[in-house]
Amino acid sequence: MKEWALSKGVTHYTHWFQPLTGATAEKHDAFFETFFDGSEPMEVFNGNALVQQEPDASSFPNGGIRNTFEARGYSAWDPTSCAFVYGTTLCIPTIFVAYTGEALDYKTPLLRALTAVDEAATEVAKFFDAKVSKVSSALGWEQEYFLIDSALAAARPDILQTGRSLCGSMSAKGQQLEDHYFGSIPTRVLKYMQDLENECMLLGIPVKTRHNEVAPNQFELAPIFEETNLAVDHNSLLMDIMQKIAEKHHFKVLFHEKPFKGINGSGKHNNWSLATDTGVNLLSPGKTPGRNLQFLTFFINTIKAVANHEELLRASIASASNDYRLGGNEAPPAIISIFIGSQLSKILEKLEHISHGKLTEEEQTDLKLNIVGKIPDVFLDNTDRNRTSPFAFTGNKFEFRAVGSRANCANAMTVLNTIVADQLATFKQEVDEKIANGSNQDEAIFHTLQDYIKEAKHIIFEGDGYSQNWEQEATKRGLSNHKNTPSALKARITQKSLDLFSKMQVMNPTEIQIRYEVELEAYIKEIQIESRVLENLTQNHILPISFAYQNVLLKNISEYKNIFGEKYMDHTEETLKLLEKISNHTKQLSQKIQTLQETRQKAEQQANLEQKAEYFCHEIKPYFESIRSDIDELEKLIDDQLWTLPKYRELLFVR
Ligand code: ADP
Ligand code: MG
Repeated sequence: MKEWALSKGVTHYTHWFQPLTGATAEKHDAFFETFFDGSEPMEVFNGNALVQQEPDASSFPNGGIRNTFEARGYSAWDPTSCAFVYGTTLCIPTIFVAYTGEALDYKTPLLRALTAVDEAATEVAKFFDAKVSKVSSALGWEQEYFLIDSALAAARPDILQTGRSLCGSMSAKGQQLEDHYFGSIPTRVLKYMQDLENECMLLGIPVKTRHNEVAPNQFELAPIFEETNLAVDHNSLLMDIMQKIAEKHHFKVLFHEKPFKGINGSGKHNNWSLATDTGVNLLSPGKTPGRNLQFLTFFINTIKAVANHEELLRASIASASNDYRLGGNEAPPAIISIFIGSQLSKILEKLEHISHGKLTEEEQTDLKLNIVGKIPDVFLDNTDRNRTSPFAFTGNKFEFRAVGSRANCANAMTVLNTIVADQLATFKQEVDEKIANGSNQDEAIFHTLQDYIKEAKHIIFEGDGYSQNWEQEATKRGLSNHKNTPSALKARITQKSLDLFSKMQVMNPTEIQIRYEVELEAYIKEIQIESRVLENLTQNHILPISFAYQNVLLKNISEYKNIFGEKYMDHTEETLKLLEKISNHTKQLSQKIQTLQETRQKAEQQANLEQKAEYFCHEIKPYFESIRSDIDELEKLIDDQLWTLPKYRELLFVR
């Protein structure tokens, strides 16, 4: 590895890992070594340096074990992901665990979940093909993002510090003309994309698709899908280099799920499937009834897994920033449901109603040839895609669409693969029992799947996920609807969740607790920072601007009075009205900011992390909208020359 790296001009190496900060971490060391025995300095890279290092764990989020005296952590080589050269550094993908063995990163539980799904799925795949000895999970993510001129972004303290605009009134032109989506890519953006794609190819990230997204200055990039662990690494790496390359083109990349009010936010669709080492996609229907039974098995088991653990899946995508997007009627709602399309729905319905006893010859034939046998035809017409669904079947894969654009995909992928692994293990057991009791294999599989359809069909929803009706309907069906992160995260620490992750050997209770606390802390900190930035913005920008303009108006009025005497009112009536409006908003704003400050001080008195998070969610966050409404009104009323912050029109249309 050293020889290879040196041949590329590399001087340093680093263990590259993904701590729970959501960013990537690296500490560079030079190959260069000196010796005290008189020999010449040389470039050294020994096995130990490749396999294991000891970064200080206390500098990274570590939740519940933060206070223990032992702060050491280990990073250890993950040979299943490719080492890569970035600049003059050899980057070695690693896991990151505490001295006491608990995972402190995203990769460790993901790797365990991938092992679990491999084991469970391989056993089930063997029903259909004895030659299968490994099943891999595949992930193809689609990354949405905004590109903002970096000089403009730098002039917005909110965008600079929180990644989103905390104020800004909608520009006259927004996305109403729908002229941006799939439109021709602006020249500077295209140059950026080309540069980025070049870099991606050099790093082995197989990028394929690029296009404009719905909102102005919003874009999407997607690679060809890869094995999940590698795909997750590639997404983390990509997010890092996207920002670096953007600097060269004087852009800032916004990964925030909702950087602008009133126009679409960004997501990261996670396209997921399972494939065997014999080259078969288990979620792809084939040409023979046998292949289709295999397809149905994996298809229905996935549906059952999601039905059983929809709350965990919701928790896996929970974050302060994604809260702004989920349920905003532009992205999937906070309710997890599955869209499978009308034709597959019909097939499931037929299957459900086949007699449950021993199948007659005729039924067997009907099942095989007319129901299962016809599945491939279904995909001739795959156009009825439902964009409002958080979890959709799209031909040969499931697409988890509620993942945040800022998120590390590992979180969602760890949960999805774990719940599917658990479900497949249960399935295998149930089918084996039926076979032991005298059923033939096909019958045993059919009857188990039939039960699953009954038990899981409440998770299938084909309608409009944005509608009010769906919220009511979902409640009736017993589906959860967690509208904010503190509420959604609770599913992580239920007994059901602890049992599941222990059983599948993905995370022990301590590791789950660590994650839970780290996520709550991240939530609190994010809202805390936003509230501070909003205060600064108001105090250092908005109020001074507003006072300055009020003075201009006052001067105007008093000059009129000087010149026109008593008749001044004829000329200043409108000016006075404007002055009054501005001063009302200014007063409101000052008061709100003061209350916000006082409220935030009380947050510190909350007894524990959970209560603190709830407090930030319910007592502090609501001020943001209310404060911004005054700022946005002032923006509309005040002289453009005085308004020091770049407006939405510049942020969204300068490219
Ligand atoms: P869109 O959802 O925008 O219409 P596509 O459905 O064509 O786009 O593909 C989106 C992503 O799905 C791509 O990244 C692609 O590589 C990935 N993908 C395609 N097939 C699979 C599969 N079997 N498993 C996982 N990902 C896949
Ligand atoms: Mg998609």
